[in-house]
Amino acid sequence: MVDLYSMVCRYDAEKNRWNGVKWITHEAVTGTFAYMSTGSVMLTACAMAGAVLPDWIEGDPLAAMDYKTWRGRHRRFSHWPLLYVFLLFLLYTAWPWNGSDFQQFFSWVFIGALCHIAEDSVCGKVPLLTPGSRVGWKLFTVGSFTEYILGVLLVLLIFTAGALLPAM
Ligand SMILES: [Zn+2]
Repeated sequence: MVDLYSMVCRYDAEKNRWNGVKWITHEAVTGTFAYMSTGSVMLTACAMAGAVLPDWIEGDPLAAMDYKTWRGRHRRFSHWPLLYVFLLFLLYTAWPWNGSDFQQFFSWVFIGALCHIAEDSVCGKVPLLTPGSRVGWKLFTVGSFTEYILGVLLVLLIFTAGALLPAM
């Protein structure tokens, strides 16, 4: 059973407060991008599942036995883009049924995860070449007003680009 409340609101133990709608920003930006690229509700749903996958793999900081352990793993393997690039590569090389629904669905799950990491990199640091490396810009604080304004602008930008460009 999906716990919607903890999906939408994440607890920031460092600042001792609930982070509002961070996952919503991921879902809105990635969902718009997937829909404008594919025009498919099904593939958009796959991308939206992927959009929360890296944080979901990481688990809930509240449920973790020890916050330091969780923090130490935070944005490591689960947020390593090459992992998802490698999975995409496998999907198109090792998976025997090219063009199958399975291949399409999982491609968009992994693309969604890559979008998540790109989105995280503008409000903190994420790995790049190795799971331990750290790159990113701290353009705004997670859960801040700026995040939502940028989120809405990005959604509008993707929507406009998608509407103006011929079908990709
Ligand atoms: Zn994340």
